[in-house]
Amino acid sequence: MTRKDDYYNRAKQQGYRSRAAYKLKQLDSDADLISDGDTVVDLGAAPGGWLQVAGELAGEGGTVVGVDLQRIDSIDGVETIRGDMTEDGTRDRVREALGDGEADVVVSDMAPNMTGEYSLDHARSVYLARTAFETALELLAPGGDFVAKVFEGPDTDGLRADIDAEFEYVRTIHPDASRDASSELYMVAKGRLTAPVREGDRVEVDIEDVGREGDGIAKVEGYTVFVPDTDPGETVEIEVTDVKPRFGFGELVE
Ligand code: SAM
Repeated sequence: MTRKDDYYNRAKQQGYRSRAAYKLKQLDSDADLISDGDTVVDLGAAPGGWLQVAGELAGEGGTVVGVDLQRIDSIDGVETIRGDMTEDGTRDRVREALGDGEADVVVSDMAPNMTGEYSLDHARSVYLARTAFETALELLAPGGDFVAKVFEGPDTDGLRADIDAEFEYVRTIHPDASRDASSELYMVAKGRLTAPVREGDRVEVDIEDVGREGDGIAKVEGYTVFVPDTDPGETVEIEVTDVKPRFGFGELVE
């Protein structure tokens, strides 16, 4: 039996609507994406395998919203929206469904209708992944995670670099449940950065306080930066050395 049949049969037996469900399970176990109580947005969600898995992982206290061009048969505890994610109106509806709250995780399994012409299918899949990326930037809370499917090709590296600039780090994962010969891969980005600074930036800061480890604490537009070897009351020039979702580190520029 081929691996494809294997996942197909497992999905049937275990009550999942698609074999794709196992891809999200594998991505989640590799990258620790969805936790109990999370708010999850799933783009390109029909027929709903990922929504079922997201619902299980987020639990009763979680919120799961799925969007697709196709109608999605209802799933307990999951809100579904029928619409085209490349249209602003659909994105507005997703925002409304979150009640102006933020998402912890945005995942996209959106795929274009395949034409068989490789460069066209690649370009369209990158366009959909970029649409998902822009949506994730609008919806994600600081520290939130993002996943997007893309068909590998010449524009994959550029997409990865753009995603990398907005998150702590990004990995590409080819789940075992994807077909062997498939060129699909998933960009998995962890830790949405909303900090007003990036690694390498030089800024002048006032040291306002002392952290538990004895480092000086500066605020850049409300964002906390720890600066070793400084004391409250000093104004110093620093180079940002590390940016995390909720705080960063800087070094004195001599
Ligand atoms: N993850 C799903 C599951 O587990 O059942 C399978 C998703 S399927 C591979 C890809 C989906 O992306 C299709 O249902 C397609 O309708 C949807 N899609 C493609 N372009 C879209 C767009 N612009 N807006 C919303 N959905 C889109």
